[in-house]
Amino acid sequence: MYSKNKASTAKDKPVYVTKINKELCKRCGICVQFCPQGVFIRDEEGYPVVKEQEKCTGCLSCFYYCPDFAVEVKKHDEGKNKKDDGREK
Ligand code: SF4
Ligand code: SF4
Repeated sequence: MYSKNKASTAKDKPVYVTKINKELCKRCGICVQFCPQGVFIRDEEGYPVVKEQEKCTGCLSCFYYCPDFAVEVKKHDEGKNKKDDGREK
């Protein structure tokens, strides 16, 4: 059976989608520590897991601090990486 969680309702849809590429991740935990919103938890193997996506503000701390380019943050509706929005100017 399907179960709805908060992130799946239209009203609470996250603006950003955060993804971890486990093939690149070395489990350093930096993204978990630097996320100001507590979006991540770590699984039993030490990999970051997106636990509370709806809290993500798109600050990109996880994206910039990850030493292995294993984090991707996209706008939910546009499918576009926020890095392309000109934040680095
Ligand atoms: S973009 Fe910011 S708020 Fe979102 S998961 Fe990364 S560090 Fe956390
Ligand atoms: S900062 Fe990058 S390498 Fe380190 S745990 Fe997070 S995703 Fe993995």
